[in-house]
Amino acid sequence: MSMKDIVDLDGNFLDHRTLMLKYNVQMDVRAYNTLTTAIPPEWINLLNNVSTTQKNKDNLIDIICKCSKACKTSYDFIIKKQASCPIEKHNSWLNYLQIDDLPWNTIYKTCFGTFDEVKLKQFQYFFVQRIIPLNIFLFKCKLKDTELCSFCNSERETIEHFFWTCPLSNCIWSFL
Ligand SMILES: [Zn+2]
Repeated sequence: MSMKDIVDLDGNFLDHRTLMLKYNVQMDVRAYNTLTTAIPPEWINLLNNVSTTQKNKDNLIDIICKCSKACKTSYDFIIKKQASCPIEKHNSWLNYLQIDDLPWNTIYKTCFGTFDEVKLKQFQYFFVQRIIPLNIFLFKCKLKDTELCSFCNSERETIEHFFWTCPLSNCIWSFL
C-alpha cells in the first residue's frame, strides 16, 4: 500500500468509512486519525502536485479493477488513444505509393476496428506496419535460401511485389 491508495483523486484523505469499505478493514476513528495525522504535510503537498495524467491513470486502474469487463474496458481505452505514424514504415509506404494525402492516421488505426476476427486484425496490422514475414526478411534471417518470390520466383519478395506486382497476386486480385 502506498500514500496514493488512501487519498482520492484530489489528494484528500479518504474519509474513515470509505477507507474501511475500500480495503474491507475494521478501524476505529482514533486509529484513522492517528494514521492521517502521522503523514507529514510535505508528503500531502507532493500528492496534491501529482500530475493530472497520473491521476487519470490511477482512476483508470480503479475503473478497470471494479468493472466486470476489464479486458474490454482496457482495450477501448487503448484504442481511443491517438495513434502515431511509424515513421520509417510510413516513409516506405510514401516512397512506394507516392501519395501523401491519404488519411494515414485512420489507416493505421483501422485494423483495430474493421474485423472481429483476431487473425484478420493481426494480418492487417502486420500489413500496414510492413512486418509480414516475406522471403526478403526470412532470407536475411537465414530462414529461407532465397529472397525471390515464392510464387513467380522472378523478383524479390517484397510487400509491394507480393501484393501488387506479382503476376500470381494480380490473378487473385482480378479473380476477386
Ligand atoms: Zn512473384
